Amino acid sequence: MENFDAVIVGAGAAGLFCAGMAGQRGVRVLLLDHATAVAEKIRISGGGRCNFTNLGASPANFLSDNPHFCRSALARYRPSDFTDLLRRHGVSFHEKHLGQLFCDHSSQDIIDVLLRECAAGQVTRRQPCSVLAVQRVTKGFELTTSAGPVHTPQLVIATGGLPIPQIGASDWGLRLARDWGLKIIETRPALVPLTFASSEWAPLVELSGLSLPARLTCGGGKGAPKGALKGEFLEDVLFTHRGLSGPGT
Ligand SMILES: Cc1cc2nc3c(=O)[nH]c(=O)nc-3n(C[C@H](O)[C@H](O)[C@H](O)COP(=O)(O)OP(=O)(O)OC[C@H]3O[C@@H](n4cnc5c(N)ncnc54)[C@H](O)[C@@H]3O)c2cc1C
Repeated sequence: MENFDAVIVGAGAAGLFCAGMAGQRGVRVLLLDHATAVAEKIRISGGGRCNFTNLGASPANFLSDNPHFCRSALARYRPSDFTDLLRRHGVSFHEKHLGQLFCDHSSQDIIDVLLRECAAGQVTRRQPCSVLAVQRVTKGFELTTSAGPVHTPQLVIATGGLPIPQIGASDWGLRLARDWGLKIIETRPALVPLTFASSEWAPLVELSGLSLPARLTCGGGKGAPKGALKGEFLEDVLFTHRGLSGPGT
């Protein structure tokens, strides 16, 4: 049985960052992912250029049952900490608008930074590697993986959200949390296109491809369900052949 100080399951944005930081603090880290390619979701993010942070990111931009949950993380690691990291790695980027920062070249730059941070922390990465079983033992966890058994006192589940299973997403982390009796807030789709019946949308089809800045408001209207989110923000909305898309939607 191999031993590591920490095992991280999921080599996406969260898992890679966590692995690099922990490794550089002297933690012996094993990072596992069942997909062949690393951080595929970063690769496709921001249209291939990764909108990696926003200069104005603050707790007010995060939705949570507990609005204070993100405060300490955001206070301890600010957007400027990440841009400093990118500058140290020589990655060039630009502000598109409204504080949104994108890579000048491609999302691969972000993946390369995270991989170099992992290398600096001497992280052991195994891909593709599946976790077949996890058992809680007195001093931590025993994992049965497709590359053999591993023991660790610290386990990080960074298997991400449910969208796009074709590139590795799974509900494995959620199922594990459920099996271990953790309270789960039922998931629902958040990243969805806003489509209309073709007859309703027909007069606007000619506008497809056009993007406009818009003021969007939601919630608070007559008949809005109790507890519905209320808000107003300025963002771009893109007309498509079937409805609306873009950051605003
Ligand atoms: C089309 C699209 C565009 C986006 N654009 C942006 C953007 O521009 N800016 C932005 O900030 N965010 C963007 N996002 C959101 C962003 O990609 C995610 O929030 C982010 O990637 C989440 O990182 P993560 O590490 O939590 O999860 P993921 O990146 O999903 O990583 C999870 C990893 O866990 C692995 N995994 C899953 N199950 C298992 C298992 N059972 N065993 C082993 N490994 C497993 C997966 O293979 C994957 O590598 C976009 C998302 C999409 C879908």
